[in-house]
Amino acid sequence: MLRRWLGQISPDFALDLGTANTLISVAGEGLVLNEPSIVAVDDASRRILSQGRAVGHLAKQMQGRTPDSISVVRPLADGVITDFELCEAMLRYFFKKAQRHGWTLKPRVLVAVPGSITPVEKRALYSSTHRAGARQVLLIPEGKAAAIGVGLPIREPVASMVCDIGGGTTEVAIMSLGDVVASQSVRVGGDAMDRAIADYLRRRHQLRIGLPTAERLRIEIGAAAPLAQELVDEVRGLDVVSKLPRKVQITSEEVRAALAEPLEQIVDAVKRTVDACHPELASDLVDEGVVLAGGGALLRGLDRYLHEQTGLPARVSELALEAVARGAQICLEDLAHWSSALESSDDDV
Ligand code: ADP
Ligand code: MG
Repeated sequence: MLRRWLGQISPDFALDLGTANTLISVAGEGLVLNEPSIVAVDDASRRILSQGRAVGHLAKQMQGRTPDSISVVRPLADGVITDFELCEAMLRYFFKKAQRHGWTLKPRVLVAVPGSITPVEKRALYSSTHRAGARQVLLIPEGKAAAIGVGLPIREPVASMVCDIGGGTTEVAIMSLGDVVASQSVRVGGDAMDRAIADYLRRRHQLRIGLPTAERLRIEIGAAAPLAQELVDEVRGLDVVSKLPRKVQITSEEVRAALAEPLEQIVDAVKRTVDACHPELASDLVDEGVVLAGGGALLRGLDRYLHEQTGLPARVSELALEAVARGAQICLEDLAHWSSALESSDDDV
């Protein structure tokens, strides 16, 4: 009873501050927030429009439809903060929204971070999270959080492998006995795939499209491996020469061709991670395989493609989008048990 009450006035947050989406889970409760990491700002003042109504879902709806004086911005790119002030303001709004119990103490926040984060980027993250209202900030590598979140037995003396494909980064990690034994973090994900699709349309069809259109195309007809029934979609854009609007038909085979390069980079990261671990562990993976997580893993046929390219069995977690937040929440709920997995701001700053 007392614990429950304390949990309500002094919540612990697990924060998955992704390039594309921000998720917050509360220890003892579950997922309480899942919104795009996007804000709409007034260009003159560089402030977020009418606080609250221009963050997350609402800001995403404005994308591509704003007048010149307003921009829709993502405060993160490639898994790290690129605009501190906006990131802090966005987090402050999300923390408030996640604290639904009226008066509360400042939360302790466990943040999942890409393995490739630099010390400077890490300090920026500590400071933004503190300034947004956290009383203590703890960090956990995203790959580890994802592996815990998808339910892999990471504490066993057997290799567990996860590949988390987000908007900006792909995190590959192999774990055994509770620790990461090999990992790769590459700055390739859904965003790089969208840029590749937009490039393809410009080169092959002389059509200029925005990245949100490329993303829609990827989600609707994109595939990593051939489909039994190839799909077709119509896409609108601006003719590169005449600058007039025009539409073309695009097939899933074309989208697959456009995605070849970013997908190869993901395969390379998986192969490099396996190469870097002990042969005994690598041989476990022949049976255990790799679990795919993150929104990027929802691309059709990605499991089949990775299996063909690496020889490892691959499956997409049914919790792909929530794995990191869920794994971090599991750590928060038993800090004593998982403390070796974490890093605290008190150690670093
Ligand atoms: P991040 O951790 O970087 O915030 P997420 O794990 O939330 O990223 O995944 C976001 C990415 O997932 C985006 O690039 C988005 O386009 C992609 N995505 C979401 N749903 C799907 C889907 N059904 N098919 C393909 N890609 C998807
Ligand atoms: Mg992520």
